[in-house]
Amino acid sequence: MAISPEEHPQKAFGWAARDSSGILSPFRFSRRENADDDVTIKVLYCGVCHSDLHFAKNDWGFTNYPVVPGHEIVGVVTKTGNNVDKFKVGDRVGVGVIVGSCMKCETCQQDLENYCPRTIFTYNSHYHDQTKTYGGYSDIIVVHHRYVLRFPDNLAPDAGAPLLCAGITVYSPMKYYGMTEPGKHLGVAGLGGLGHIAVKIGKAFGLKVTVISSSPAKEDEATRRLGADSFLLLSDPAKLKGAMGTMDYIIDTVSAVHALAPLIGLLKLNGKLVTVGLPNKPLELPIFPLVLGRKLVGGSDIGGVKETQEMLDFCAKHNITSDIELIHMDYINTAMERLAKSDVRYRFVIDVASSLTQ
Ligand code: NAP
Ligand code: ZN
Repeated sequence: MAISPEEHPQKAFGWAARDSSGILSPFRFSRRENADDDVTIKVLYCGVCHSDLHFAKNDWGFTNYPVVPGHEIVGVVTKTGNNVDKFKVGDRVGVGVIVGSCMKCETCQQDLENYCPRTIFTYNSHYHDQTKTYGGYSDIIVVHHRYVLRFPDNLAPDAGAPLLCAGITVYSPMKYYGMTEPGKHLGVAGLGGLGHIAVKIGKAFGLKVTVISSSPAKEDEATRRLGADSFLLLSDPAKLKGAMGTMDYIIDTVSAVHALAPLIGLLKLNGKLVTVGLPNKPLELPIFPLVLGRKLVGGSDIGGVKETQEMLDFCAKHNITSDIELIHMDYINTAMERLAKSDVRYRFVIDVASSLTQ
């Protein structure tokens, strides 16, 4: 009998959301055979990105259920194809948000596979063979070696996992938009998974970093534990007023619809606001303060494979990992509920290998 494209030879087991309730439950599926260019990876840890929650709940309207989320994957290589010389069995590796692209277009040739019109995402995409991609909330994953990262030895595999998405998502715009000049003032809006890593990377670049938050309870941690220089509460108008026109750059990581006017107001002349958060509805953009202050608003989407490796090596050098709450797979639905309420310090990471029992 012919094997359906969804029935590959490598058996896999994970947790999937089946509908917009977003509730995840055990899910059996299969992965393709390890081909010449592939690496098969036993998943050890997987971070829980807010994008996983957006997808599980179909916030953006293009979830293709069942969805196995997870794109902050650290694991161990268990098989390599004949064309793979960069990795060997037993290597510790990472997989981020993308597992494929056309490899031919101008953006791919510039190591910007993340902007390739045919990017294949780690989950909720279709691979070249038209089968669905499933993410890292699962025991194994098969990935073309071009999209696999060397995971530095001195980075903890659990606390380092969130770098594969959260880390590169804040590192890449800082490099691209020239937001790394030592002594300059960076604002980080939203102190969640992306935000707290932006604070650490900003400090490693020698910036003065101010957290801009809606959560009063995070003030102490932002300054004492994460190393921010100061903390601004969006609901404190007096403090906000005092900080107007003081920031050179802002990275906006807020996941929900929010006002941009206060953020633009915090920028100096020529200041730059880069949004990486992906609310499910458009934000209102006030034009007058942009025009009158020659300010720039931009966006950025993760980063290419080469730059992701550069970011991992940078974080290894500067001892940057995520502050995590390590969880078992069967806690994932509670973790998602807490993530929706910004109640996580500061990234959930699933201990996949020790909690996924068939
Ligand atoms: P997260 O851990 O939930 O952090 C988001 C933070 O936004 C929260 O901790 C909270 O910070 C703030 N926030 C949430 N709801 C808010 C509201 N209603 N009003 C004001 N502030 C609010 O999420 P994450 O994993 O860092 O992801 C953040 C966003 O980036 C998501 O939309 C995600 O999909 C997106 N993302 C984009 C890319 C990309 O490539 N561009 C990559 C990964 C993720 P405070 O408590 O400090 O206010
Ligand atoms: Zn992510």
